[in-house]
Amino acid sequence: MAYDYDLFVLGAGSGGVRAARMSAQLGARVAVAEASRVGGTCVIRGCVPKKLFVYASEYAHAFEDAKGYGWTAQNVSFDWNVLRDNKDAEIDRLNAIYKRILASNGVTLIEERAVLKDPHTVTLAGGREVTAERILIAVGGEPIRDETIPGHEHGIVSDDAFDLPELPKRAVIAGGGYIAVEFAFIMAGLGVETTLVYRGERLLRAFDKEVSAAVETALREKGITYLNERVFTKIEAVGDARRVHLTKGEPIETDLVFWAVGRRPKTAGLGLEAVGVETGRYGEILVDEHSRTNVASVWAIGDVTNRINLTPVAIREGAAFARTEFGGVPTRMDYRFVPKAVFSQPPVGSVGYTEDEARTHCAEAGHAVDVYETDFRPMRNTLSGNPERMLMKLVVERETDLVMGCHIVGHEAPEMIQALAIPIKHGVTKREFDETCALHPTSAEELVTLTKRKES
Ligand code: NDP
Repeated sequence: MAYDYDLFVLGAGSGGVRAARMSAQLGARVAVAEASRVGGTCVIRGCVPKKLFVYASEYAHAFEDAKGYGWTAQNVSFDWNVLRDNKDAEIDRLNAIYKRILASNGVTLIEERAVLKDPHTVTLAGGREVTAERILIAVGGEPIRDETIPGHEHGIVSDDAFDLPELPKRAVIAGGGYIAVEFAFIMAGLGVETTLVYRGERLLRAFDKEVSAAVETALREKGITYLNERVFTKIEAVGDARRVHLTKGEPIETDLVFWAVGRRPKTAGLGLEAVGVETGRYGEILVDEHSRTNVASVWAIGDVTNRINLTPVAIREGAAFARTEFGGVPTRMDYRFVPKAVFSQPPVGSVGYTEDEARTHCAEAGHAVDVYETDFRPMRNTLSGNPERMLMKLVVERETDLVMGCHIVGHEAPEMIQALAIPIKHGVTKREFDETCALHPTSAEELVTLTKRKES
């Protein structure tokens, strides 16, 4: 049967655009449907605007730090509208680049929502039906609220946070993951009186324990009120303000309530049931290592599959799909040693096993784990009087000397971790770290002079 296209991609986010572009470059006739804006979560309402906000927020501390270096910054003020509008202009620029990438590779962009009708057909919002030999679902995820909480609708989610008409004076954020932590620091830096409410004992609980502790210290140093082991029980609207009731402690009066309690795959209403595409308990599309669903003509990549929900992972899954299906080279995404960052202030960079994960993993082989760490005040914080410290931790398998993980909290930690992920993924040993000459004066030089072994 002749199809309209060789490939129809649902979703023009990072993963969908990469898959569409590469497939087209490999000779496929490709269309991509996007219901919102080309660029997806990362570019439009995620990583990119978030990082711009982090930069904006960091200036508050830079002005403070500059005093110790002799600077006097007078009449310093912040204008939310300027930041938001400049951010919008940058997002427009990136959106146009993404569109150009699709057009210049001959990909047809359909700016409509598409849903599956049968294994080879999608229906567009306007009613038109389009057929394709292969269908790739790359529609991403969406932020959630806890809808069991009365008044949950009075809280915003991260999608809304980028376009607030004005910056609130006070904000209460729920969650203890990436978004909650990053936005707590962003808001605090921009002058918002910020409270972070986390249900568990230790925020960023997927990270190394000492990373969590270092971030908690930083939260407090930046004046953020951190309340753990409690959740919202009710949110009331009191005029323009909000009153948040908690399982523990007094209610909090605030101007903004922000749900940062996770994201879910955006599979509702996508027609998956009609086509028989299997989903898991969170609504994620179940796929194999080649991103194939249980329906032979349908694939899925990125956050909608809820594997590792990070942009570079979605991009690689998209590239692997294109290479496999249109390049004739079966390719799989390699999920080992994916580096991670939390853009807290200071930020976190992490790759490989946490100390606890390494101990569990190595115990199976009867191996021991050595942990080398340092916690110091970086030189940049000396004259400034900034109390911020830096944590560096290497997790090493004793018998093989292999570095299994590295965790850093401090200025430019994500930049260091990106570079460290290369040797760590490829089996660098602690001895090879030690044999490498230091670069002085840097913070990163501590990594090659780590001798202090932590008591296990
Ligand atoms: P996360 O899954 O990282 O964190 C969700 C947080 O909300 C957890 O602390 C969780 O607690 C808590 N939580 C869940 N349900 C409730 C509830 N009902 N009431 C109160 N608290 C609750 O989600 P995020 O929304 O922060 O981020 C979503 C994803 O986006 C991330 O997993 C990541 O993949 C991606 N992302 C990546 C970034 C980066 O790379 N820097 C930045 C932002 C997002 P508990 O710990 O107990 O489960």
